[in-house]
Amino acid sequence: METLAPLWQSHERAFGKNLYVYPVLSRRAGGISVGINLNPDKGCNFDCVYCQVDRTPSGMDGIDPVHRAVDIRRLTEELLALQESVHRDDLFRNPPFDKVPSGLRRMADIAFSGDGEPTAVPEFSNVLKAVADLRNTTTGLSHVPIRIITNGTGLFKSRIRNFLRETLFLDRPLPADVKPASEGMSDEIWFKIDAADPGSFSRIDRSALSFDRYRMSVSEALRELPVTLQTMVLDIRDLDNSFRPEGAWAKAMRDWVTTLLREGANIRQWHLYTVARKPPSSEIVAVSEERLERLSRFFSETVSCPIAVFP
Ligand code: SF4
Repeated sequence: METLAPLWQSHERAFGKNLYVYPVLSRRAGGISVGINLNPDKGCNFDCVYCQVDRTPSGMDGIDPVHRAVDIRRLTEELLALQESVHRDDLFRNPPFDKVPSGLRRMADIAFSGDGEPTAVPEFSNVLKAVADLRNTTTGLSHVPIRIITNGTGLFKSRIRNFLRETLFLDRPLPADVKPASEGMSDEIWFKIDAADPGSFSRIDRSALSFDRYRMSVSEALRELPVTLQTMVLDIRDLDNSFRPEGAWAKAMRDWVTTLLREGANIRQWHLYTVARKPPSSEIVAVSEERLERLSRFFSETVSCPIAVFP
């Protein structure tokens, strides 16, 4: 699997002439994750210290920073074309996907991810409805789960939470006529929580939201929606103010997730991952597998949901 490292690490969002749809090889999804990027303008309401999206002046070269309404027809055409390309094996004839082993040459998910926060885009609901309808009715797509990869902020609105429950198969498996790839498979929300105390929240996520407001809204959202939690674990090697997850950060995370579960949050699994691709600054450093495992054991002392680590 070592030769696959460059592919695991590459989350290149440019694919041919596509504007919205791109393939990546995903470790966590276990195959080709078909990304949907609703933010070609790179817009996000967080400014995470580890974010791979280059928003520096040179990184914005050629990028229109103004949000343009998503062209849903174009997006669904790009999605169908990529599905065909995976199905016919065309995707795997040329670099870099020619290195993908046969067991991973499958569409593992359709992931709303990309260069910004998908749920913050005004057309999010309309796009999701169009993609879910297409998935449910198209042979070759109907077995593919939809994953919303989000910082959670769009889910603070009850209107969006209701819409997600109505549109996706979240706490129920994909029905037989949608032909799930494996029994019990369902759509998922991958909800990121990187910090459970105000200092770490402003240091890691660098959001303009007040932490108290954020914490209250997360609790409300997780009582209503089943999610997989996603937590970035990293070191910040700043000579004047370094950060390590062990200690106060870990204790606050453990206590908060424990409380969320006790209060009725439907957290299916908690993913701990670290920096896998080139970080935006040399101060941002991945933690070792051993440290991730140790943190996982520490969290497991009081957290009742399964925890998985992705070094
Ligand atoms: S929420 Fe995602 S896209 Fe936005 S800044 Fe953080 S890592 Fe980047």
